This record gives sequence, structure tokens and C-alpha cells, in this order.
Amino acid sequence: MAGRMKAAVFYGGKEDCKIEEVSTPKVGEGDVLLKVKACGICGSDARYFFNGNEPRYKKPVILGHEITADIAEVGSKVKEYIKGNRVTVAPIYGCGQCEFCITGQENLCEEVVVFGINTDAGFAEYMLIPEKGVKRGVLIKLDDKVSDKAGTILESLSCVLHGQRKLDIQPGDSVVIFGAGPIGLLHLLVSKKIGAGKVIVVDIVEERLKEAKKIGADHIVNSSNKTWENEIYSYLGKNGTDRAISAAPSLAAVEDSFKVIKKGGKVLIFGGIPKGNTLAMDPNFIHYNEVEILGSVDATIDDFKRTVALAPYFDLDRFISYSYKLEDIKKGMDRIKNKEGIKTIIKIN
Ligand SMILES: [Zn+2]
Ligand SMILES: [Zn+2]
Repeated sequence: MAGRMKAAVFYGGKEDCKIEEVSTPKVGEGDVLLKVKACGICGSDARYFFNGNEPRYKKPVILGHEITADIAEVGSKVKEYIKGNRVTVAPIYGCGQCEFCITGQENLCEEVVVFGINTDAGFAEYMLIPEKGVKRGVLIKLDDKVSDKAGTILESLSCVLHGQRKLDIQPGDSVVIFGAGPIGLLHLLVSKKIGAGKVIVVDIVEERLKEAKKIGADHIVNSSNKTWENEIYSYLGKNGTDRAISAAPSLAAVEDSFKVIKKGGKVLIFGGIPKGNTLAMDPNFIHYNEVEILGSVDATIDDFKRTVALAPYFDLDRFISYSYKLEDIKKGMDRIKNKEGIKTIIKIN
């Protein structure tokens, strides 16, 4: 596949992204080359696009880790895949040797490789999966029932599933989800699927709350109302909720979770919080109430495989609100910045 390809190249400055012709990656004997069909824009891509210059990113970089692709070429040593397989990509793989990797927690590996952060990814016509990634199992074949556009949601869904497995919702548990963006809505889908009882979604954007209702929330609460906390207690009863999920990138979402959690309940801190924020709380709140606080970041390859197996049972197409060509990536980024729609993707081939 020697030649040139179109790619969105990010140079690290604010909105410093150019659509360029670059060399198509060369395929080594253990590598796989993907022809990208569609790639979702993650909140983290938009944050990098508008704010620029996060040190953990290579420079320049091709962003985009939410990928549906066809295999375009396989190296001579690759046996597990053939040209034409339709796949999605688990976008991280670890060193394979550290304490975390050998216990299946490669998301915690210190030397983790993340597509779209420290290696080039999917906002391009082609993308290379290096031998190490192929061997760790990052390429997962897609069921025909999952469309190309739905395939772009699977990475987010895998992260949600990772958090949900930690949160350990029991049949009938009440769940309050703070944040009705794509991540909060996926938490809603999965919570319902695994047997939660009443699920409440909380946000300040009315459009998103309406969407949550359509997707299956039992109750929606606008937290810009001063009475939001009472609304939750009057719906669930005076003890509060069994599980709470902070699914928005804000400290308030974490603090609000503690305001409604039941004694013995579990709080999942899912959304990353901007640097410089500190949580002030009385440790006795955790001690006397036996509240558990859990963290969740990215997903393991095991989570990703489970996600691909679950995907045909969800209506994921409805999550895609906008689709743009690679040349119009800025328009897509603007949709995310303005919190328009649920998910915006780039359609490439
Ligand atoms: Zn993502
Ligand atoms: Zn490792």
C-alpha cells in the first residue's frame, strides 16, 4: 500500500490541525494496515483540538481512537486476520510484562501505548496497527449486525463497561447518573441491560435530558434547579440511591454524587476532572456510612471483547447525531464544543 493518504494532522497548538497528504504507513511482517471507514470524535480529541498542547501527546499526531475499519493489508507473519475483515480497535495496549499487564489491567500499565495519543490513529485514510498491538489482541472482528457508524461507539462503550463491572450493580438497584453526554447515556443503557431498577439521569442541558428519557431513563432531573436534590429523594425515597455515577468532567458531578448516595452505596468517579481541583470531604462520611468510592479509567482488552459481544443487542445507531467528511473535522469539533447532539463522527472511506 505504498503511497500517500489523506490525514488530519494535529500540531499541538489551539485549533492547529491541517488536512494533509502524508505517507501511508509501511507494513512490517507482523503489522496490520487498516483502511479506516469511520472514526468517532471523543471528548478528549475535542479538548486537545481546542486547548492544544497536552504533554502526553506525541507531536504532531493523528488523533481519533474510536474506529471502524477494514483490514487493507496484513504482514507476512500475521495469521489471525485477513484482508477484508471488518474490525474495531481496542485503542490501548500495555508492555505485556509489568504487574498490571500480567493481571489483565493493561489500562494501568506505565508504558501503555494509546492510539491517538502516543501513536497515530484514525483521522486518516489508513492506520497502522504495529505487531505488538496485533499480538495483544487490539483488533476485534465486528458482527455484521453492528453498522460502521455504531462501531465507532464501541470504544466509549468499553470504557463504560469497565466502570460498570467495578460498580457491580445488583438486580433492582437504583442508579443516579450525573451527566447526559454520550458517556452518561451509555451508562444508562448498560445499567438497564444488567438489571438496574430505577435510573435517574441528571444534567443541566434540557435537550440531553430529553434524549435520556427517550433512551430509557425512568426519571430526569435538571440540576440547575435548586430543588434537584429533593427531586431525587422524593423519587427514590429518603435513603437515596444504591449507586451513583459521576459521568461529567466536573468536580460538581463528584460532589453531587455524595449528596444522594445511600449508606452502603457505591460511587463511581468515571469522568476525569480538570487539574487543580480538590475534593474536600469528611472521612467519617465514608467510614460511618460505608460508602465505597471507585475509580475507572479506559478499558482492558477483555472489556473490549465483551463490549463487541454485547453490541448487537443495543440500538447504537441512534447515538450518532452528526457525521462529517475528514476535511470538515473542525465542524465536527464544534458540535462537541457546543454540546450538540449525542455523538459526532468522521466518515472516511
Ligand atoms: Zn474516546
Ligand atoms: Zn505493562
